[in-house]
Amino acid sequence: MKVLEKALAGERLEREELLELYRLPLPEVAAVAHELRLRRSEPRYVTYLIDRNINYSNVCTVGCGYCAFYRTRRQPDAYTLSYEEISRKVAELEAVGGRRILMQGGVNPDLPLEWYEDLLRYLKERHPQVRIDAFSPEEILGLERLSGLPARAVLERLKDAGLDGMPGAGAEILVDRIRHAAAPARISTADWLRIVAEALSLGLYSLASMVIGMGEGPAERVEHLLLVRELQDRALAEYQNGFSGFALWTMQLENTRLAGRLPGASAYEYLQTLSIARIALDNIAGHQASWPTMGFKIAQTALYYGANDFGSTMLEENVVSAASGNVRRSATVREIVRQIVEAGFLPAERNVFYEIIHKPDPESVLDTV
Ligand code: SF4
Repeated sequence: MKVLEKALAGERLEREELLELYRLPLPEVAAVAHELRLRRSEPRYVTYLIDRNINYSNVCTVGCGYCAFYRTRRQPDAYTLSYEEISRKVAELEAVGGRRILMQGGVNPDLPLEWYEDLLRYLKERHPQVRIDAFSPEEILGLERLSGLPARAVLERLKDAGLDGMPGAGAEILVDRIRHAAAPARISTADWLRIVAEALSLGLYSLASMVIGMGEGPAERVEHLLLVRELQDRALAEYQNGFSGFALWTMQLENTRLAGRLPGASAYEYLQTLSIARIALDNIAGHQASWPTMGFKIAQTALYYGANDFGSTMLEENVVSAASGNVRRSATVREIVRQIVEAGFLPAERNVFYEIIHKPDPESVLDTV
């Protein structure tokens, strides 16, 4: 299997070779992915982040068929949180030692750019220690259309008001034929890449994401990975600022209009694509295991299929939860540390750039109630 030897030698694999990985036995692909993970990050450690999700509004005009979170502005349970409510949630995160919020909503036509700028200033004034990574490329595209300003100008104004980065969500599969079959009004591949590139060029943080289970096959999965790798090469060379990490998860369809109409993805497919992503994305060191979508046990297994990170506490995650029934979507540090230790690694708290900031004594964390 020359292709695996080539990957192990640290050489970059091209499209046909990545496709070949999808035809090889998974344990052999995973062994190479794990070896590369051990080389590219601290081998004994698995990292995690303490953060909180805040969904400032569920009003959205895009109407993706796989989204159970959004509401039209006239539905009785449509909401937009006040600045005070959002600030209270940030204070709760600070109380448990968190220093980062992930804030996203929908494309809400009633909220002008000034509303976002004022919100960011309000939060930064009251919580200067907390990073704000907010707004997906879809929301920025919505603000582009609403304000008539190009994405760069929108992002500059948000950055001036206190924005630290973007969560990098909404990439799903970066192939329009696939993404628009499931959600015709969804942001296009070109716009997603354009807006993220603008954010990276301004020095903002972004994660690279990928969601499988939309009816795509290996060819589209590889296409997605190549687009991410290409943008990362360009961003690192031109802006000295690239994606901080990579997160893969599976489409959650249970409570959505497309339940039974999109195939979703199995645990096998998840672990296979996770391994191939580790091999393909030789320019991104941090790869997350997705416990919120796969559960703790598969997430532990993922630590041997290329992942070196257990994601974050995700206090109050609403978007994925809405689509997948009653599955829990937040975890305490203690629970995450337990999963990492049980899987045979040492836990390390990290920042959003995947830099280790604290190596807790696992026993003292597990002893807390
Ligand atoms: S996934 Fe995002 S863009 Fe699509 S409907 Fe839901 S909130 Fe709106």
